[in-house]
Amino acid sequence: MTKSIDVLRARKETIACDDIIHFNNAGASLMPVPVSEALHGYLRSEERIGGYETAEKYSESLERVYSVAAKLISCSPKEIAFVENATRAWDLAFYSFKFKPGDKILTTVAEYGSNVIAYLQQARRFGVEVNFVPNDESGQIDIEALRNLIDDKVKLISITHIPTGGGLVNPAVEVGKIARSANIPFILDSCQGVGQIPIDVDAIGCDILCTTGRKFLRGPRGTGLLYVRKELIERLEPPMLDQHAAELITPYEYKICQDAKRFENWEQFFAGKYALSVAIDYALSWGIESIKQRIYSLANLLRKKLSQIDSIEITDEGIEKCGIVTFTSGNIAPREIKQALATYKINVSTAKGSGSLVSFSARGLTEVVRASIHYFNTEEEIDYFIDILKTIVLKKHNKCK
Ligand SMILES: *Cc1c(COP(=O)(O)O)cnc(C)c1O
Repeated sequence: MTKSIDVLRARKETIACDDIIHFNNAGASLMPVPVSEALHGYLRSEERIGGYETAEKYSESLERVYSVAAKLISCSPKEIAFVENATRAWDLAFYSFKFKPGDKILTTVAEYGSNVIAYLQQARRFGVEVNFVPNDESGQIDIEALRNLIDDKVKLISITHIPTGGGLVNPAVEVGKIARSANIPFILDSCQGVGQIPIDVDAIGCDILCTTGRKFLRGPRGTGLLYVRKELIERLEPPMLDQHAAELITPYEYKICQDAKRFENWEQFFAGKYALSVAIDYALSWGIESIKQRIYSLANLLRKKLSQIDSIEITDEGIEKCGIVTFTSGNIAPREIKQALATYKINVSTAKGSGSLVSFSARGLTEVVRASIHYFNTEEEIDYFIDILKTIVLKKHNKCK
């Protein structure tokens, strides 16, 4: 049995819960008090005693991000790099691969837009072929199709775990099995996974994973993490190196860092790094399995209630569905729904554009409303949300008639 979340305490430690309904946790969640205190305390120290001096004073605390992140995803601290966001973390690993004309990258229809742009850039530069593995009928990556696409030309399997624009959870473990048996490096973009569901990089079998601090981990913005499997680190020389990632030994020689720090910069968002370690501690203290169970049950409740509203169509795909709930209404545009909800102090976002383009264009979607749930949200908030949403979509409908 996993312990259940003390929702009252979680809400007490999330000050905005008194004022707003925050269903935008896939955009940026709310920092809990201990994380916000850590962040502000660090910045205050920089203000009072100086930036270098504060880094020295906090040196042990700053190092903790590696060990707590390692605990979070079951790897070694030396396999973790702290980066300014998930996209750059992912880029630093991806652009370290050397491709030749005819090499293939296998990815998924749910792939994040920035990653697709990076594939296309390398396709232009090196003649790489980018292949979107089709989805199965449920909307998740088709594992059989993936298996059939494996050949000597495939140099990389790189997928998004949970897309930014839908509730889908791709079967990462099944993808990992195929990558391992074919001995092909596997990158997992788990920006929406880490902090929401348990992640074990060995159980998944991914070689590289990126995530961001501000989403389900509830850390500050401007923070991200990269995991690179030990065996792969020495084979991957990042496209950019500074004197933290490498050491200048003579005027004509440098030595590159042996661990994942080769993917870092010397200058970092130190306050954010410290606060992120506190956010990870905080998440681990609730238990990620407990967090997942509460998120899934709330999100399923929300989907059930949405499905009872006539003009609403839920757009989440897949067999396993997570805390990201997306929908459209035949009566009113997603952006207008978002704006109308905001007048009731309900935060949602819309998913559109690059982020979900491959998947959305295949399904004839341009924009959806995204209500993303976290463990501090409540059944009562969902009820209120549904009531308000009904008035919004029905009012609009009646006006149209
Ligand atoms: C948010 C997100 C990213 C980008 O993370 P940043 O920290 O903003 O760079 C990448 N991939 C997915 C699937 C995301 O949801």
